Amino acid sequence: MQLLDGKFVSEKLKQQIAIEAAEILVKTGRKPHLVAILVGHDGGSETYVASKIKSCEKVGFNSTLYRYESSITEVELLKKIDEINQDPETDGILVQLPLPKHISADKVTEKISPEKDVDGFHPVNLGRMQRNLPSFLPATPYGILLMLQEYGIETSGKHCVVIGRSNIVGSPMSILMARNTNPGNCTVTICHSKTPDIKKFSLDADILIVAIGKKNFVTADMVKDGAIVIDVGMNRETSTETKSGYKLFGDVDFENVAPKASWITPVPGGVGLMTIVGLLKNTLASAKKEIY
Ligand code: NAP
Repeated sequence: MQLLDGKFVSEKLKQQIAIEAAEILVKTGRKPHLVAILVGHDGGSETYVASKIKSCEKVGFNSTLYRYESSITEVELLKKIDEINQDPETDGILVQLPLPKHISADKVTEKISPEKDVDGFHPVNLGRMQRNLPSFLPATPYGILLMLQEYGIETSGKHCVVIGRSNIVGSPMSILMARNTNPGNCTVTICHSKTPDIKKFSLDADILIVAIGKKNFVTADMVKDGAIVIDVGMNRETSTETKSGYKLFGDVDFENVAPKASWITPVPGGVGLMTIVGLLKNTLASAKKEIY
């Protein structure tokens, strides 16, 4: 078994991003600028946004964080997004999900200008992605592609099974793995909560990508010998063993699956770190006007 080491790859790619950010500063006199919006005080969201902001600093981007209480109305939030859309000093906008129930995540996603949609969730970017046109790719699937690329993993002709069909991970991941690109060119199967006998499909996977949010869902008996296993799951549990007071678990039973896999991502230290790289690369591409 070999580790798909998100810490190693993300550090390497961040160094390259930092070099490009410095070049942009010399050429244009300004740094790429990411604006993040955080609503409420969800523990996971606080941590994810903090590490995105910290990563911006590390690669020489400007960042701004707008924080709102859960009581903010949908109208107020949409107005703020509109304002940032118009700001020529902003290259990328992200609104951390999930949002409180009274705010429609779909409306918020669609309000962000596709040209600044560095999380890659806007229907315009998803549609362009499907048609293989230049677009901001959803940050997590993008990070996974970058990881596969960095390790030189051949995906063409392989059977890729994606478990989970969310708009932000499973669904775009399945499209990207089926596209006529490298990485890509897989035969793709998507499984979800209505799929009977997921094991029947997962056992045939050369590449297994799991994004469902259920701790240790994929067990060793569900995985083919030599499979490449990508674990997107981030399941937080409170813990007295860690300084932060919580522990992260993946959707894959790493300890028992790893000996069967040819390559596997750990949690933490895998896909989560690559998601941030996807976000930074999208912000850089926006600052360079590479997509629009
Ligand atoms: P989501 O929106 O809740 O979607 C979960 C998907 O999993 C749905 O398609 C659901 O099926 C499917 N599912 C749920 N239970 C299942 C089961 N027992 N068997 C088969 N399929 C099942 O989740 P998400 O946003 O994609 O996130 C998934 C996980 O990835 C979470 O742990 C999340 O925290 C993590 N995540 C990590 C990153 C990262 O950077 N590492 C980024 C995003 C998300 P239905 O469609 O039928 O309901």
